[in-house]
Amino acid sequence: MSYVDEIYERVVRENRGEVEFHQAVKEVLESLRLVIESKEDEYRKIALLERLTEPERIISFRVPWIDDNGQVQINKGYRVQFNSAIGPYKGGLRFHPSVNESILKFLGFEQIFKNSLTGHPIGGGKGGSNFDPKCKSDREIMAFCQSFMTELYKYTGAAQDVPAGDIGVGAREIGFLFGQYKRLTSQYEGMITGKGLKFGGSLVRTESTGYGVVYILEEMLKKNGKELVGKKVVISGSGNVAIYATEKAQQLGAKVIALSDSQGYIYDQNGINLEIVKQIKEVRRGTIEEYIEAVPSAKYTAGKGIWSIPCHIALPCATQNELDLEDAKMLRGNGCIAVAEGANMPCTMKATNYFQESDVLFMPGKAANAGGVATSALEMSQNSMHLYWTFAEVEEKLRRIMVNIFAKAEDAAKRYGVPGNYVVGANIAGFEKVVDAMIAQGIV
Ligand code: NDP
Repeated sequence: MSYVDEIYERVVRENRGEVEFHQAVKEVLESLRLVIESKEDEYRKIALLERLTEPERIISFRVPWIDDNGQVQINKGYRVQFNSAIGPYKGGLRFHPSVNESILKFLGFEQIFKNSLTGHPIGGGKGGSNFDPKCKSDREIMAFCQSFMTELYKYTGAAQDVPAGDIGVGAREIGFLFGQYKRLTSQYEGMITGKGLKFGGSLVRTESTGYGVVYILEEMLKKNGKELVGKKVVISGSGNVAIYATEKAQQLGAKVIALSDSQGYIYDQNGINLEIVKQIKEVRRGTIEEYIEAVPSAKYTAGKGIWSIPCHIALPCATQNELDLEDAKMLRGNGCIAVAEGANMPCTMKATNYFQESDVLFMPGKAANAGGVATSALEMSQNSMHLYWTFAEVEEKLRRIMVNIFAKAEDAAKRYGVPGNYVVGANIAGFEKVVDAMIAQGIV
């Protein structure tokens, strides 16, 4: 049996029921098959893939907190410290009822290669809780965050593990988490990113993931003889990534016609009015349905189905496995020419394969949404140097990073004889650096 197949079987056997983690490992290993098989004996001898697929450490803990009725609540907290070969662990915290070890291991595993691709010295990690921040008061959120950090602070630090936000963890939560870390350690250091601008945050961090998705999309289109200007774009989600992908796509001349949330989606043939969406989602924390109160000509549909809207470009920016084979076929049938994943693993493997087989340009999340963590690394740099860069400086660095990521993915795909396959290219480019570092550091 080949080393890749053997390791996949081992991962399934030793991580029972963790389907998201199995899926992520399968996707990555399959795309690395060419590289791994060319050095199979060497890698087997040092158990490279066994080590790569086993987190260095998983911390799991109880998070007790008191709700507004005086009732004690208990949640589960986790941090998966997956791989520190090229730098301190780096990856977001997700607060969502669906959070479990499988989801965090899938995200942490993917993060290793994504972080490597950015060119910054950051390892891979991920964490979070099954806590649901929806419909909680600010005091309840603070109580939860303080309790969560009271356990997590033992394992984090600027040179050790630097968490950030993810689904359910935005500026408010990061502020509470940072405040509690400082209180417990008496250290004012860049131990978390996504901080407020008045206490160590970086300009452009809020916009970075969404902007980065569109920068790399634009580069992919350009290198394939197409352009973004005038294209109709459908974006799923209406959270941080979706909002700023919309903003940059509009700035660069595209027309975004649909957005969604977990309840349904809106279609505005005149182009989404983003200020209204920001008011609903960032200020009022409402549902996307409220958009039609402000724009009666737009249409709201409850439930899934956003991918049935004809468009040239699709940017899935909500959550994992939100776009399946049927959706992919519908998009292609309606004239879609390019897909870039703003979310992590939003397309199922069958959908991804379909896009690639049917000549739809496809940029995987590992490359497309790496602008967020790259800008987090820029925040870490500014913190350690005790200085701030301007918005224009950070944005230009972000743009260059995304163009560079595209070049690395394109180059690796060409080197291994699969030009235009950015899934394989991104995985190989990320993998090579981590593996070289692991080998140089011996059996650890
Ligand atoms: P947010 O919590 O800000 O937004 C998530 C959005 O997706 C919300 O609009 C939410 O709807 C919607 N959503 C959630 N679940 C579903 C579902 N099952 N079906 C349809 N819509 C759904 O998260 P982010 O924008 O930060 O993250 C989105 C994705 O991008 C995640 O996969 C995340 O891991 C990834 N990512 C984020 C980065 C960042 O910097 N923020 C960096 C790299 C990746 P509702 O409002 O109803 O909850």
